[in-house]
Amino acid sequence: MEYFLNELQKTVKRMARTIAEERILPVRAELDEKEEFPWAIMKDLADTDMFRVFIPEEYGGLGGGCLELCLVVEELSRVCSAVAISYASSSLGSFTLLQYGTEEQKQKYLPDIASGKRLAAFAVTEAEAGSDIGAIKTTANREERGYVINGTKQFITNGGEADIYTVIALTDKTKGARGASAFLVEKDTPGFSFGRKEKKMGIRASATRELVFEDCLVPAENRIGREGMGFLMTLKLFDYTRPEIAAQAVGVAQGALEAAIDYARKRIQFGHPIISFQAVQHMLANMATDVEAARALVYAVARTVDSGAKNFSKESAMAKVFASDTAMRVTTDAVQIFGGVGYMRDYPVEKMMRDAKITQIYEGTNQVLRNVIASELRKRRTIQE
Ligand SMILES: Cc1cc2nc3c(=O)[nH]c(=O)nc-3n(C[C@H](O)[C@H](O)[C@H](O)COP(=O)(O)OP(=O)(O)OC[C@H]3O[C@@H](n4cnc5c(N)ncnc54)[C@H](O)[C@@H]3O)c2cc1C
Repeated sequence: MEYFLNELQKTVKRMARTIAEERILPVRAELDEKEEFPWAIMKDLADTDMFRVFIPEEYGGLGGGCLELCLVVEELSRVCSAVAISYASSSLGSFTLLQYGTEEQKQKYLPDIASGKRLAAFAVTEAEAGSDIGAIKTTANREERGYVINGTKQFITNGGEADIYTVIALTDKTKGARGASAFLVEKDTPGFSFGRKEKKMGIRASATRELVFEDCLVPAENRIGREGMGFLMTLKLFDYTRPEIAAQAVGVAQGALEAAIDYARKRIQFGHPIISFQAVQHMLANMATDVEAARALVYAVARTVDSGAKNFSKESAMAKVFASDTAMRVTTDAVQIFGGVGYMRDYPVEKMMRDAKITQIYEGTNQVLRNVIASELRKRRTIQE
């Protein structure tokens, strides 16, 4: 399909594909097997200016938006979702600063994130606060010296690897939804350490780790925006970043579709390539149609985000729900088309199926996102202009 990409979009897409095929493809199985953080590839992405894509020009970026970021994430995920999410989490960790930070904060942190010298991460989730982020217990108490953070964050992507963390903590426990604030915490801050590293089903080369804060003193100038805005900022952040998770899903589904077509052409049974059987053809036809529909929705939503629209919670949730459900279906069908070898680690599709699953879970489970979509529908009957 023709998506009418501009020159910058075509360039970043092409560059991401080159890195994916030349640098990631040869090592993706090994990275997955060893559960090893892809530092060498992060360096390749930095050297080719990929971290500049989502940062404005005045801070050393290329000034791209949601669509440019989605194109990079999609191309990386087509080959390896673990690499893609390690890259994308740096944008997740930067956006609150980008949207609500002071000029000083932006000048201090964004150029290093743009150059890829320092990775970023975002931390809201805790053991008892997943979908229900309002249940967080981590506190940030105001003292004369600054804010003292105590608590433990769970399942943080890039945990332990990133240098800059956007952390949501309670500045006033009595204020409910208005009681949380956002803070920038640097890796080597005293009182900040890393706990359990998770062993995962998929995206195994990405780091998912606990962040532990024990009387961690953060200067007052590291608070992002006003006190009490932390939850609102988090909800807004996910509206911006869910299309990236949707792009991750489109990428992994595309990778699985291509692998399934190649295999179906080569595999001979009953004297014919299995692609000559109508049952296989129809599976492939459905997979290709679903991937294209998901891509079209993701790009349309990314363009809506980039248009400066004020509210796109519903559209952003729709893109993630539709694309991640597509990715799960398509990768599962790819394993089916491969038959027995599809179940083996020698072939790429079992990894893709494992990797696809997380896109239905993080940045809002698909059940919670259906609640988001339904709640917007309850507020406004959608009228298509
Ligand atoms: C690999 C990985 C990486 C992650 N990276 C990050 C990160 O970088 N930063 C970060 O802050 N967090 C991160 N997370 C956390 C992630 O966003 C949460 O796991 C997710 O939001 C779900 O929360 P939970 O796991 O506590 O599930 P729960 O909220 O306990 O949900 C369990 C089940 O209940 C359902 N459910 C819950 N509430 C409702 C409801 N109201 N209506 C219907 N169904 C409901 C859910 O859909 C799900 O099926 C990551 C998680 C994983 C697994």
